[in-house]
Amino acid sequence: MVNAGPIAIAIHGGAGPIRREKMTQEVEATYRQKLEESVRAGYEALAHSSKKSGASSTDAVVAAMIVMEDSELFNAGKGSVFTHEAEVEMDASIMEGNSLKAGAIAGVRHIRNPIRLASDVMNHSDHVMLIGEGAETYASELGYKLIDNSYFHTERRKRQLQRIREATVDTALSEDSSDIFEAGDNMLGTVGAVAIDRDGNIAAATSTGGMTNKQYGRVGDSPIIGAGTYADNSSCGVSATGHGEYFIRTVVAHDICARVLYKGIGLQQAADEVVMDKLKNMQADGGIIGIDSQANVVFSFNSSGMYRAAIDKNGDLEVHIFK
Ligand code: ASP
Repeated sequence: MVNAGPIAIAIHGGAGPIRREKMTQEVEATYRQKLEESVRAGYEALAHSSKKSGASSTDAVVAAMIVMEDSELFNAGKGSVFTHEAEVEMDASIMEGNSLKAGAIAGVRHIRNPIRLASDVMNHSDHVMLIGEGAETYASELGYKLIDNSYFHTERRKRQLQRIREATVDTALSEDSSDIFEAGDNMLGTVGAVAIDRDGNIAAATSTGGMTNKQYGRVGDSPIIGAGTYADNSSCGVSATGHGEYFIRTVVAHDICARVLYKGIGLQQAADEVVMDKLKNMQADGGIIGIDSQANVVFSFNSSGMYRAAIDKNGDLEVHIFK
């Protein structure tokens, strides 16, 4: 039977010290346009799929995120940041709140759309997380074309790596490293999406190139279920963005959903408790997007900006960058 519950989708393109004075109107317009294209792609899938009940929320978050992964603007897919070795290594995850099924990949180098592979791990493998070469072998078995790492190499990210190498900062993970970037974007631009479909099923997903100059197979929170991504129909779905080491230690996405479930509080309050109190007290920059089981969209971030957009349960579009 078709359940005609409300649908909604929220996306982010990373949070961090986005400085209004550093951003030209033209650049701002380019980001806004891409965010709108992404959120509309996800919403169209939810609203107008050939399936009677609309596409599932998992299909919708993948559709939205592929738009951002294919854009140079964001730190995911095509626009991913460079590692210390001037290569690109990407992480992604997805979770489905009805079954609590999840899929994740880490450290992949030759997959054009990491979120698609994470989704295939969830739907077609016996596992939750595959890494590096193993993940790519699995992709080959599914018929993926492995592409050259050079596809992901962009001038902007090359300049960022150079700048961080020239500065006397040991690693991108230094808390001070953001100061040496024009827009503080040594990591900025991770992408995520959360959606609820007509069946009340919530999905959340996150995809990233990680942090500029990362070393030794470093993996952040984005592919860690519970840290960067979590979805449970009984509470909410969350996708996070920020300094991954802190987000792993505080298990951000699951903590927010658990607060909603156990404390009986609203998603905005739960998100603010974690993002504006807990993370801020640790000086961890970042934010989250979330949707609860009533299809309410929530944003929470403690940085000066977060690229974000949503189409809410009334069908209203919003696109924002700054506070
Ligand atoms: N969370 C990502 C990571 O640490 C980066 C980001 O969201 O900006 O890999």
